[in-house]
Amino acid sequence: MAEKKIPYKIYLTEEEMPKQWYNLRADMPTKPAPLLNPGTLEPMTAQELEGVFCKELVKQELDNDTPYFDIPTEIRDFYKMYRPAPLVRAYCLEEKLGTPAKIYYKFEGNNTSGSHKLNSAIAQAYYAKAQGLKGVTTETGAGQWGTALSMACGYLGLDCKVFMVKCSYEQKPFRREVMRVHGASVVPSPSESTEVGRKILAQFPGTTGSLGCAISEAVEVAVNTPGYRYVLGSVLNQVLLHQSIIGLEAKLALDKYDVKPDIIIGCAGGGSNLGGLIAPFMGEKLRGEADYRFIAVEPASCPSFTRGAYRYDFCDTGMVCPLAKMYTLGSGFMPSADHAGGLRFHGMSSTLSQLYADGYMEAVSVRQTDVFQAAEEFARVEGILPAPESSHAILVAMNEAKKCRETGEEKTILFGLTGTGYFDLFAYEKFHDGEMTNYIPTDAEIAAALAKLPKVE
Ligand SMILES: *Cc1c(COP(=O)(O)O)cnc(C)c1O
Repeated sequence: MAEKKIPYKIYLTEEEMPKQWYNLRADMPTKPAPLLNPGTLEPMTAQELEGVFCKELVKQELDNDTPYFDIPTEIRDFYKMYRPAPLVRAYCLEEKLGTPAKIYYKFEGNNTSGSHKLNSAIAQAYYAKAQGLKGVTTETGAGQWGTALSMACGYLGLDCKVFMVKCSYEQKPFRREVMRVHGASVVPSPSESTEVGRKILAQFPGTTGSLGCAISEAVEVAVNTPGYRYVLGSVLNQVLLHQSIIGLEAKLALDKYDVKPDIIIGCAGGGSNLGGLIAPFMGEKLRGEADYRFIAVEPASCPSFTRGAYRYDFCDTGMVCPLAKMYTLGSGFMPSADHAGGLRFHGMSSTLSQLYADGYMEAVSVRQTDVFQAAEEFARVEGILPAPESSHAILVAMNEAKKCRETGEEKTILFGLTGTGYFDLFAYEKFHDGEMTNYIPTDAEIAAALAKLPKVE
């Protein structure tokens, strides 16, 4: 057997780690559509946004032109605690699949929050602290974002209030406890503690909540509490900017060995890990310097790219947030209760939406039992228990590698392994016990949710 030139794991030294984030929007020929004020339908001004978000983050949110932003030293030092994230050559998986494809994955699960979300959490907490704020509010679904933000706030001594979707609050008590380890307060949503929460509870008694609803509650508390702002773990431009660290590190590591991926694959919830992973590669494609295939993978039960509409919509159920133009299933869309694979948000990053609309990216949707099947195959050969979200990307990477087995092509595949699945073992249990189903929304259900989109052109 020929000697393996490329190691199983490619690390960067601390010196080699990126010192700037890359803003993909700077290279986009068509910029993502601006956030709109739902009252006036005019683009949100910096001043309006600063009532909800930290000042520096608003600047990042609205900047479509500056290609690079310096990463403050304090954030770079925090990154060094758990980064660089390894870029792994999946030799074991390749061998198991008997494929000539070369598979690489960027593993973001090496921290207590177990996902890439810490990359943006520390940045957002840092700017809140720098502005002299007392604390931040947020929502969390499965709990990864709430955990990441709790860690970042605990580290910087900021208060952190998390509204956690009620069904997750009940099903994932361990996540909640990790947040409390880091000093956050965690409230199940919808709650009686906000006006919008009380309204939703009155309208839908017994509801187990949704991300969109928890967002409404967190925003309400932020704007009504002096010294607080709201922070969001995905979807927004600023989050994609921070997550570009994933792609920048991956590209630096691949460049060390002159490796150029043919296909880059990521799971897509709100789009932050995918946007971050593809950022520098997509930049090259947009500037005409290189070509890559990009594939977004989403659950068949929450298929915003593949079956949604590219329209202005609310980011939250309570309809208090700005309107974003994005591929959406409608802010009232709720994935079926049996859906356990995460990636439940009804919309998609407006940056990725524009790239998808312009044909720079592909998207596919996959069934959750296939996702868990792939997760297990992966766990058994690569020694990492993957998060269900991440496993959407694993499945499609494996499928592409199997195609290479048929055609004999030696394609290079890069995918994002966003996190670990230790808090998802109830979902794995359902899968093992044969209780996991594959509910896919009907056209009529999607049409009904889309019919309620706000009328904006
Ligand atoms: C939150 C999360 C995702 C999806 O969010 P994006 O913003 O689409 O990246 C994917 N994987 C893991 C492990 C997550 O925690």
